[in-house]
Amino acid sequence: MIGAVDIGGTKIAVGIVDENGRVVKRVEAPTEAERGYSVGLEKITQMLREILSGTGGVIRGIGIGSTGMLDPIRGEWTDVDFLPGWEGQNPVEDLSREFGMSVAMENDGDAGALAETYWGAGKGKSRVVYVTVGTGIGGGIILDGHLYRGVAGSHPEIGHHVMEASGPECTCGLHGCWEALAAGSSMEKWYAENQPGPERHGKPVSAREICELARTGNEFAKRAVDREGMYLGLGLANLIGMYVPEVIVLGGGMMQSADLYLGKIREVIHSGCRFVPAEKTEIALAALREDANLIGAAVAWQHRYGNLTEAAST
Ligand SMILES: [Zn+2]
Repeated sequence: MIGAVDIGGTKIAVGIVDENGRVVKRVEAPTEAERGYSVGLEKITQMLREILSGTGGVIRGIGIGSTGMLDPIRGEWTDVDFLPGWEGQNPVEDLSREFGMSVAMENDGDAGALAETYWGAGKGKSRVVYVTVGTGIGGGIILDGHLYRGVAGSHPEIGHHVMEASGPECTCGLHGCWEALAAGSSMEKWYAENQPGPERHGKPVSAREICELARTGNEFAKRAVDREGMYLGLGLANLIGMYVPEVIVLGGGMMQSADLYLGKIREVIHSGCRFVPAEKTEIALAALREDANLIGAAVAWQHRYGNLTEAAST
């Protein structure tokens, strides 16, 4: 069994993942990042101890999946929007010292990509692109069964390829990135700005509500959903053109309404991509859902220190 830690801006989850990629037990606590890293570390340590004594389990190592920019080789955060003041801290060294075992940390997009490839919708495939669409767009790339890393172990940001150079401003400094056009928050922003007159000044409408309205036949919500499917399809067509993976696994909150977008997504992909065998790239929905991050953290450890071939063949 492997200890798993999922660190997000609002909550920290800790669990134990068994050799079949199942979360046997999990506990959660608010991150409270503003109270500082040492409080966060203490919380993680206590949760791990609690869960270990509760199950009587023996773990081989600890995997961490975390939000933000981090150096997976050194095991420390480099620039973390959602964890202010945690930059430069090294939970890999700290937990390793505390528990006397190996610890691996990956960005949560990469951890999710590993989880879906080894235990989820990409199982049995070796070229997988994982895309998560929520308030932002992130993900990870698996090539020949291994996590693709950029220079100095960096994590590529697939949500920030530019689709419309004169599009909306993005948090990364460019304009018209995929994320700025197709993330849930971007859909909500477009909806609020383009809503027909009488409804425009009402309370903000969430992406989930837009989808519900579209299901009831609301014409403007249907337009928003169609636009969302079009931009999701364009981004996926770009990824297919660049990587031609065996499968693209789609996860994240926005995919709870995937049935509303999938038709448009396939239409956009099949209207282009003619120089690659796009029909061979499967578009699949993430299989691991709420446990994906913890399973991802465990696979991050397994990818670094364990035997992944063992996991893939089980
Ligand atoms: Zn961007």
